[in-house]
Amino acid sequence: MAVKSSIEWTDSTWNAIRGCTPVSPGCKNCYASSVAKRFSGPGLPYEGLVRINAAGERTDDWNGTIKFVEKHLLDPLKWKTPKRIFVNSMSDLFHENVSDEVRDKIFAVMALCPQHTFQILTKRPQAMLNYVLLAEERVREIVAFYSDTWGAHKQAEALGGKWISPQRDSMGRVELEGYFDCIEFKWPMSHVMLGASAENQKYYDERIEDLRIIHDAKWTTFLSLEPLLGPINVEYSPSYYPDGPPMCCNGTDCGCRGLPVEPPMVYAADWVIVGGESGHDARPMQSSWASDIQRACARWNIPYFFKQQGMWVDAGHEEFGKLPAGRMAYYDSQGNIVPKCDPRLADENADVTTMKWVGRKRAGKTLYGKRYHEFPA
Ligand code: SF4
Repeated sequence: MAVKSSIEWTDSTWNAIRGCTPVSPGCKNCYASSVAKRFSGPGLPYEGLVRINAAGERTDDWNGTIKFVEKHLLDPLKWKTPKRIFVNSMSDLFHENVSDEVRDKIFAVMALCPQHTFQILTKRPQAMLNYVLLAEERVREIVAFYSDTWGAHKQAEALGGKWISPQRDSMGRVELEGYFDCIEFKWPMSHVMLGASAENQKYYDERIEDLRIIHDAKWTTFLSLEPLLGPINVEYSPSYYPDGPPMCCNGTDCGCRGLPVEPPMVYAADWVIVGGESGHDARPMQSSWASDIQRACARWNIPYFFKQQGMWVDAGHEEFGKLPAGRMAYYDSQGNIVPKCDPRLADENADVTTMKWVGRKRAGKTLYGKRYHEFPA
């Protein structure tokens, strides 16, 4: 049976590998590693995947070991109803300890399941890029070799297709591998979405170029800006464009209306997901960061999905009404904490936002009162 997911932008999760290592600040409160800690005792699914501390206790830190869970490899072949499937919610498929052999098998299973939409998300888009540039022939061979053994014929029949037997020449040599007439091997696969995750401008700037090359290679791509820990200029990052977007002229000389002459960086993605962090150690996301990204996506016609505000809200914003007494914290517009002794707190014009902890339910799933649940076409 498919594992139903509580993540709003997907239907089910599929975990044929387990384990990871933190790679950037967005990993600090990794949800997957806290689940792994709970189930890491002897004989449990995550045994051997989390770090043991000096006192011999299991922690919620991954130890870098990756486990291939072969019994789950073929799960999507058994799911007849078309679904959005989040691939590896408990790992990162492009972690350095995942072998290409395992990745090839996972891609081969996806190739055999054209009825689903697969969503692969990584914080290591460079490894994802290197993989998709080189893996096509290997995956094609696995599809041809294993599809019958894996029982893909049942799947193909359920999809209305039939198995075409291998063709042989007069010497009995295989001229053409057997194949399912409803499953056409394509690379890029149109039902597989490749995504990169970034939490602030620094990691956006580092990861977006790899995603752009993947997008230019005609894969469907997405960006997950979650947990959002700082503002991100998704169009023309200041480190790439210190003088702002490159303009053609003043907008009237040539009749260009003042549009930039280069496409925005966010064109690397066909879909953008934004969300604040949840959990007991969650860090705040200022609503203005999420709404700046929403406006940028609207300007360039990129579907935008706002997942959740997190645990904290901007204390002064009317959307949240009168807030109960509770934990407060002060942040500047870049997401840096402003300590209580900072003189900026006494200056009403200072660039300081008061954030209040209200919990996930109260913080909600709307952005300034509006729900954004857009999906790519
Ligand atoms: S990459 Fe993902 S799974 Fe791995 S540690 Fe970071 S948040 Fe967790």
